[in-house]
Amino acid sequence: MPLDLDTPVQFVRGVGPAIAKLLASLDIISVADLIEYYPSHHETIPVSQSIGTLMQAQTATVIGQVKRVSSRGYGRKITVTCTVEDSGGVCVARWYNSPHMQDRICVGDLVRLTGKVNESGDQAHFANPTFSIIPDDQDPLTDDSERLVPVYAAIARLGSRQIGKIVATALAAVGERIVEFLPDVLTQQRELPARKLAVERLHLPTAQKDVEVARRRLAYEELLLMQLAVQVKRHHAATMQQALPLTLTDEIDERIRARFPFELTHDQNQAVAEITADMARNRPMCRLLQADVGAGKTAIAVYAALVAVANRRQAAILAPTEILAEQHYQKVCRYLEGSRVRIGYVVGGMSKRQRLALLEECAEGSLDLIIGTHALLQENVHFHSLALVVVDEQHRFGVTQRAAIRRKGRVPHYLVLTATPIPRTLAMTVFGDLDVSVIREMPPGRGKVQTRLARTNQSDLAWNFVRSRLAKGERAFVVYPLVEQSESLPLRSAIEAVEELRTGPLADASVGLLHGRLKSDAKQAVMNAFRDGQHNVLVATTVVEVGVDVPEATVMVIQHAERYGLSQLHQLRGRVGRGGKDGYCILISDTKGGDATARLKALVQLNDGFRIAEEDLRIRGPGELIGTRQHGLPTFKVARLLEDIDLLQHARDDAADLVRSDPLLRKPQHQLLRRAVLDRFGETLALIDVA
Ligand code: ADP
Ligand code: MG
Repeated sequence: MPLDLDTPVQFVRGVGPAIAKLLASLDIISVADLIEYYPSHHETIPVSQSIGTLMQAQTATVIGQVKRVSSRGYGRKITVTCTVEDSGGVCVARWYNSPHMQDRICVGDLVRLTGKVNESGDQAHFANPTFSIIPDDQDPLTDDSERLVPVYAAIARLGSRQIGKIVATALAAVGERIVEFLPDVLTQQRELPARKLAVERLHLPTAQKDVEVARRRLAYEELLLMQLAVQVKRHHAATMQQALPLTLTDEIDERIRARFPFELTHDQNQAVAEITADMARNRPMCRLLQADVGAGKTAIAVYAALVAVANRRQAAILAPTEILAEQHYQKVCRYLEGSRVRIGYVVGGMSKRQRLALLEECAEGSLDLIIGTHALLQENVHFHSLALVVVDEQHRFGVTQRAAIRRKGRVPHYLVLTATPIPRTLAMTVFGDLDVSVIREMPPGRGKVQTRLARTNQSDLAWNFVRSRLAKGERAFVVYPLVEQSESLPLRSAIEAVEELRTGPLADASVGLLHGRLKSDAKQAVMNAFRDGQHNVLVATTVVEVGVDVPEATVMVIQHAERYGLSQLHQLRGRVGRGGKDGYCILISDTKGGDATARLKALVQLNDGFRIAEEDLRIRGPGELIGTRQHGLPTFKVARLLEDIDLLQHARDDAADLVRSDPLLRKPQHQLLRRAVLDRFGETLALIDVA
């Protein structure tokens, strides 16, 4: 059977059902998958040297004769040791957990070994070196030159070398079928090697510089396909979907501004200008407003909502939790006190009758502004004339929710608020179909927040400090990552901790407890008590619920701080120091070394949310940062978001040109490209309804 790209890997020479199964665990099903299983990096195999000249920790190649072979252990745990000698000395090679090595190497064989040297006693050792046996009839110095080998992400029973061999076999059979799908203009303009050549260079490397050229070609290709997917979809939305243009007159603008007890900052004004320009079009706005906690997103949301209301349309503002929805509701009511805007507040906690009555008013159009949780969208809620949806995401992104709104037939303008500053690169890639507005500056009169790291055995100092602030009439948050003791994790439960605080270090304070298992009105009651000052300490177990505005709160104590992501910590910290007084954030953690320590140190040093997000991206990688994996957003095989920023920029520009000249990639010269986009990103980006 002649191989083709869509042939199952099982039919590649040397691959049977057993290996096919192992490959499947690496998501390699077809020959094409195999060929696109690119090496994670490349290693240089040095030219051979005399055993006598080996140095500690160098990567070296030696050629010598096997003098002795022994093995110990049993089953899979067999370790094979052999002694190898050349004219300059003797060294030891050892393969751990490698029963198969027993039959592969014999006394008298001439072998080539490559690996990292470890000197022990006066002998050089190699642990799990790569090796080959040099046939009797071959000159040992054939092939003895510096070589580059691909290293593949491997699994226990399928090593990198074996994967490399299988890939090479497949490439030999189907190499000719690796066609170029990029238009000639692009390969010329961007000086890209042909696709086939690039793929071969990665798997069968010659020189490091060629490998890098090849990698960048494939990274560009990947980013271009992604950008095309995003932009084709966006173009489709822009041309096929109609929205109501919402006009803004000077008079409306003046009336709206009069509602705020402050002047908007420069950045807020900029965001307002971008948003109102979008809403004035008959295409739906799709915009992300990014700003640190406390930078004043709510005012912008209210501004946008009032533009809709002034146009006699409805607007909805949605939050991820009831507490946050309630907070929006209260803020909005304060801003709109005495106005004729009819505001509805819909949450799960209310009685069924109350709720039905509200939903009815919403459908009739006797409410102008509806505030609720994200759940409002999933239910069968009818609006009379919904023209704007504002979604407050806090630190999550509701890609799925976005889909839900779009299914509703009418297409309202759409604004997402987020407090997670997404590095620009990532925003461009993953959210390429959203426009982004950014507020960087804080409203005037904000205090600074100082951050300190402490170990658990320094907790007394932390509580002393908390008491000193409480004595000044200020308030403190204490955050624990879990509600209840879990056997696997040595975390003290918050409930237990609250008891300890109440009877111990914070006996003179009034400590409220907010945790995820409380009913929503109980949560609200605790929250109100903290805001009104009946409680001056709030112990909380969930991060989202802390998203409240309490100007008197100046101290944030975060227990087990290592368990949070950097951006999450930054947001928690943003809850204090909002009332003009300085804030203090105490991170309690016993972790030593590793990513967690790097994160905590970064937090102590950095205050700018954008710098922090870049650092988070650097430490954890993009997937973790925004949970792209959970959201089924695309991940990349070759492209590296931090290093390949220039490629991303090129890909974005090139995709824009292509989509401008051929919006759905229907021209004959774009057929292959179109196919490639659909194959690679059709599913993750739901292009089905477009193409
Ligand atoms: P975010 O939603 O971005 O966390 P908010 O909209 O809740 O921030 O604003 C935080 C606080 O700052 C609120 O108390 C708000 O009244 C105040 N605020 C917002 N914009 C300004 C401004 N331009 N000048 C002064 N205070 C402002
Ligand atoms: Mg907010």
